[in-house]
Amino acid sequence: MRELEGKVAVVTGGSRGIGRATASELSRAGASVAVVARSRERAQGTVDGLDGPGEAFACDVSNPAQCADLMSAVADCLGPVDILVNNAGITRDNILIRLKDEDWQAVMDTNLRGAFNTTRAVARGMMKRRSGRIINIASVVGLTGNRGQANYAASKAGLVGFTKSVAQELAARGVLANVVAPGFIETDMTAELPEEAREGLAERIPLGRFGTPEDVAGAIRFLAGPAAAYITGQVLVVDGGMVM
Ligand code: NAP
Repeated sequence: MRELEGKVAVVTGGSRGIGRATASELSRAGASVAVVARSRERAQGTVDGLDGPGEAFACDVSNPAQCADLMSAVADCLGPVDILVNNAGITRDNILIRLKDEDWQAVMDTNLRGAFNTTRAVARGMMKRRSGRIINIASVVGLTGNRGQANYAASKAGLVGFTKSVAQELAARGVLANVVAPGFIETDMTAELPEEAREGLAERIPLGRFGTPEDVAGAIRFLAGPAAAYITGQVLVVDGGMVM
């Protein structure tokens, strides 16, 4: 089924991992996809593998002016944005007493302020057209907290509050906003984890395996499509049952 035929989707952090799988999945569903990363070349790598129309864009989501320019460029190139997936994210892990100001700020600026920057840049257009989907990628850590990730967990918890507020503000204009909260997914972000930590984590996952980027992309496709037309302000956890 190509339920997103004729739709334009923006995926931030689309150069690898969950973002790359999401761009491919939305493309398979028929959407034209704007793939966004800090480097246009890296985003192009994803576009080259898409089934349908797509375009690569360079944008640092922590920069509000770049986000405004991005959305105008996407509209000129592919058309007005119907689906925004705020997936760009970073970690700068450390225990609280060693957490540096710049590690706090960098994580907040990309993970939380980035979603604000891009969402504000598309909201007016979506409201005017009385249609739109905003899907923010948080983390189970935003719901549970995690030792060594106070900055990351705070940014992801912030995304949940942000999304629910946006969902309430925009519902009457036909714009839906939801969160996908992945658990432990095999990507570059988690590749560095020591073997011991991986084993410990695997034991806590009822489905008995780590997630794949495609597992998360499937949930994003669902929230972007017609089957999710009556769902807004929700957090969809994709974690193999780790957090219940
Ligand atoms: P990843 O493999 O490290 O990829 C991160 C992506 O974000 C890259 O495409 C990167 O592109 C982009 N990016 C980083 N900073 C950016 C910025 N300032 N502006 C624009 N793009 C930026 O990460 P991932 O594991 O796929 O994670 C994707 C999202 O899922 C993140 O929000 C992460 O927090 C969340 N998540 C991941 C897991 C997991 O287990 N992997 C679990 C829960 C939640 P460039 O470097 O090319 O700019």
